[in-house]
Amino acid sequence: MKVLVINCGSSSVKYRLIDTETRMALSVGVVERIGDGGTSHRAAVSEILERVDLTEIEAVGHRVVHGGERFHDATLIDDQVVAAIEECVPLAPLHNPANLAGIRLAREALPSLPHVAIFDTAFHRRLPRRAIHYALDLDLAQRLGIRRYGFHGPSHSYVARRAAEYLERDLEDLRLITLHLGNGASACAIELGASVETSMGLTPLEGLVMGTRCGDLDPGAVLQLVRELGVDETDRVLNRESGLAGLSGLGNDLRDIEEQAAAGNDRARLAITVYAHAVRRYIGAYAAAMGGVDAIVLTGGIGENSAQMRRRILQQLDFFGVRLDEDRNHDARVSAEVPVVDVSTDRASVRTLVVKTNEELMTALQTARVARGDTEVRSPGPVPIAISGRHVHLDRASMDALFGEGSELTVYKNLSQPGQYAARETLTLVGPRGQIEGVRVLGPLRKSPQIEISRTDEFALGVDAPIRASGKTQGSAPVTLVGPAGTLHLNEGLICAWRHIHMHPKDAEAYGVENGDEVEVAIQGGERDLTFGDVLVRVKDSYVLEMHIDTDEANAAELSRGAGGDLLYDPPDIAAAASLERRRTR
Ligand code: ADP
Repeated sequence: MKVLVINCGSSSVKYRLIDTETRMALSVGVVERIGDGGTSHRAAVSEILERVDLTEIEAVGHRVVHGGERFHDATLIDDQVVAAIEECVPLAPLHNPANLAGIRLAREALPSLPHVAIFDTAFHRRLPRRAIHYALDLDLAQRLGIRRYGFHGPSHSYVARRAAEYLERDLEDLRLITLHLGNGASACAIELGASVETSMGLTPLEGLVMGTRCGDLDPGAVLQLVRELGVDETDRVLNRESGLAGLSGLGNDLRDIEEQAAAGNDRARLAITVYAHAVRRYIGAYAAAMGGVDAIVLTGGIGENSAQMRRRILQQLDFFGVRLDEDRNHDARVSAEVPVVDVSTDRASVRTLVVKTNEELMTALQTARVARGDTEVRSPGPVPIAISGRHVHLDRASMDALFGEGSELTVYKNLSQPGQYAARETLTLVGPRGQIEGVRVLGPLRKSPQIEISRTDEFALGVDAPIRASGKTQGSAPVTLVGPAGTLHLNEGLICAWRHIHMHPKDAEAYGVENGDEVEVAIQGGERDLTFGDVLVRVKDSYVLEMHIDTDEANAAELSRGAGGDLLYDPPDIAAAASLERRRTR
């Protein structure tokens, strides 16, 4: 698919027309000097649309810096999505308005094409809560949306995949620290294929020293600046006059700074030292946070090109297995043809890789994935979770025995799966040790009876029920049912339900899973983070996306009604990269 990728920034609009099959760029360009009396976004986008062959384009991918809490993945743009991105403007006042301008203009000019938003923040959607929260008053922070979101997602995820490919390992088996060192800079710790720590926070100002941005700063220093300079001037100083430029007084280009440092300029030397020191601190912190690291990946203009900076960052880290090979580092040149170079010694237990990033390709691949799918494909966000209490399914014969010949179930409440309902009718379950009253019958009637209880219920009844997928009752546990019209002893039918996710085939496609797969679902951000393994995927045309767990499981994760979990999947963007662990049904 031929995808036009537009990166509409505050002062420039970059574009690239990419063929996702060959992964080649067909045309590349940038329109600079936007604002400040120069070109408008409108003029810039029109200029780009004149430069590329419009008849070739099949989809347009737009970089959007801030997706807030709302967007977890690449999303097909419609009016509602535009409105929701607009709502994220207060979170990224410098970036999102420019991104939106690009989206509006491109949609006007190319109304018949699918437009897809790719969010910088999306890759960090699974940050654990220990990494999300700042230690602020929780209510205040939540009211104002102040938390860590993270940025540079397409770059971190792209280089992580490339690193895994290069190392011939599953991404999910690796602990990586990826360092995107460009004009903006951020570090990311990646575990199980997901971002678990990242240095940029609420805005792209936090973390590493950048070209003109300050990175980490005592909030007290910010207050002091605000008192002296006012809010707007402080904003300008921290975003545009700090970082390498502020320290060196020589502008933000590291090449110039390195040249001046070599010539003896002390501020240039200081800038380089402070920069490298910040990156080293993050490497140490992230290695500790993950309890180890398998590879460190450097990318971005500085990470890819400055051997000197790489050496300063990585020297004397042999105590935890990082050993830079001076010659390999000096000679490393990454390119489209050679996108990965290992710069560590053979003895290093942590690999150090220089990887050429390609955020545009990542954006194009994600755009193609969304554009190819039906517009109704659900963006693979969190899976809604339903908590099933103990319940009974009956067949015609057991219904007759328990409620009387020819009796019918009456609807108490419809359930989320179409056609399924909780009935008014209830029964008593009787086991060798005890009994449980008031157990809800679910309708409609089935081919054979099936009784689903939790482990805790098993103790109460004194039975040992096997964990089974629905319908697989052969050889399951016996139980006695007592209804208003009679008692029925079943030799089998009692199970502890195997946790599962109902999915429509479109959902399965969106998540990249198939009927019968077992996946993991992570519950994060609540009171008790928990990852459920062995979750069975069940796909059928009539299913609505929903994970079903029992009350014990819900309590273990401190879940309440309306909760959601993240399916640990890997979008099939780069086929060779990490594959979902697949085991067939028991
Ligand atoms: P952006 O974040 O704007 O995409 P880049 O990833 O292109 O930026 O990174 C720009 C930075 O990379 C600049 O600071 C530039 O000086 C630095 N850089 C590029 N090439 C070299 C080089 N050969 N040596 C040192 N620094 C370099």
